[in-house]
Amino acid sequence: MKAVCWHGSHDVRVDTVPDPKILNPGDAIIKITSTAICGSDLHLYDGYIPTMKSGDILGHEFMGEVVEVGPGVKKLKVGDRVVVPFTISCGNCFFCKRDLWSLCDNSNPNSGLVEKMYGHSPSGLFGYSHLLGGYAGGQAEYARVPFADVGPMKVADGLTDEQVLFLTDIFPTGYMAAENCDIEPGDTVAVWGCGPVGQFAIRSAFMLGAARVIAIDRVPERLQLAEKAGAEIINFEEVDAGVALKEMTGGRGPDRCIEAVGMESHGMDAMGVVDKVKQAVRLETGRPHALRQAIVACRKGGTVSIPGVYGGFVDKMPMGAVVNKALTLKSGQTHVHRYLRPLMERIQNGDIDPSFVITHRLNLEDASRGYEIFKHKKDNCIKVVLKP
Ligand code: NAD
Ligand code: ZN
Repeated sequence: MKAVCWHGSHDVRVDTVPDPKILNPGDAIIKITSTAICGSDLHLYDGYIPTMKSGDILGHEFMGEVVEVGPGVKKLKVGDRVVVPFTISCGNCFFCKRDLWSLCDNSNPNSGLVEKMYGHSPSGLFGYSHLLGGYAGGQAEYARVPFADVGPMKVADGLTDEQVLFLTDIFPTGYMAAENCDIEPGDTVAVWGCGPVGQFAIRSAFMLGAARVIAIDRVPERLQLAEKAGAEIINFEEVDAGVALKEMTGGRGPDRCIEAVGMESHGMDAMGVVDKVKQAVRLETGRPHALRQAIVACRKGGTVSIPGVYGGFVDKMPMGAVVNKALTLKSGQTHVHRYLRPLMERIQNGDIDPSFVITHRLNLEDASRGYEIFKHKKDNCIKVVLKP
């Protein structure tokens, strides 16, 4: 089959690789009909995540048709059309039973290095390095899906791929980021980053009762899309976002802050060994550090919710601000399984049509160009969908 393979920093290629096979009784093989490139893939593309091997298949946002099931699979059958959460979960461990799916204890067999760094390991993820299970990803014609009775959810009749594809990651991620804010009536929510995750966080914040949302980015098309959802906007290249936020909130600061940027703004590598040269270059650009800015901007007693992905050590975190302003910090890889059903219902009810983020539809063969366009926000790119 054809698959999008990582070959080093800024080097992804479409290779011909062996078709996936059922390895465990609970596996299913999915013929992929739609798959997307995520901001998290850019961390791999930029070479920030260690333990990638040349030839690893990328992709964790995918859906398609079940073409084969292992003997232990009870709920899925050949021909079912499913969306697949990017987090892999057994459904049976201490964490899965507590609805903490992205912390599954049984899906990351190669977790040695992560455990050494962080004390414990999160769940395995599709297409996201050997630190996180070494699973082949879904930017391919087929994928093997472990724990097939636990993760994949059948798509309700009448919904298109484009309406449901983002249930695999970015819609639940934006939603959980907003939910983690514990929004109260009248709250102002500031969202750093108007990429796909930020866009869903903005809409979810309104769905969960925010009175105002203030969106921060520097890409005009992304800010415009935020404005369309009803957000007020700040272009951080034109004004100091910290100062603007204070002015816009009567000096108090936003009640809730969502950091939907991640490592991208800081140039840290995932091992915490800061690449001095790269970092110096970035500092010269004067680009703000989104997470620090969010912590400093947040009002006293407020919440900072961090869907943005980090690895290694985030240096110079203003913990003094966290303590002295009594902030609540919440984060995590998304517990996608928790949100599949309720968010599919929201799509069916017409609360939201997630396809609004798609700007580019490419053949799988054009994946390399897709990464290039998405990385550099060329051609007004917000989200790229690949069609195998
Ligand atoms: P993206 O790269 O398309 O979007 C990031 C946006 O942040 C860009 O529009 C960029 O211009 C903007 N930005 C950069 N520096 C900024 C700054 N200082 N202030 C404000 N905005 C700034 O990526 P995405 O797909 O939207 O993903 C965003 C983050 O969410 C990534 O770190 C990704 O890894 C993470 N993510 C996390 C999960 C999870 O489970 N927690 C899931 C998916 C994605
Ligand atoms: Zn993703």
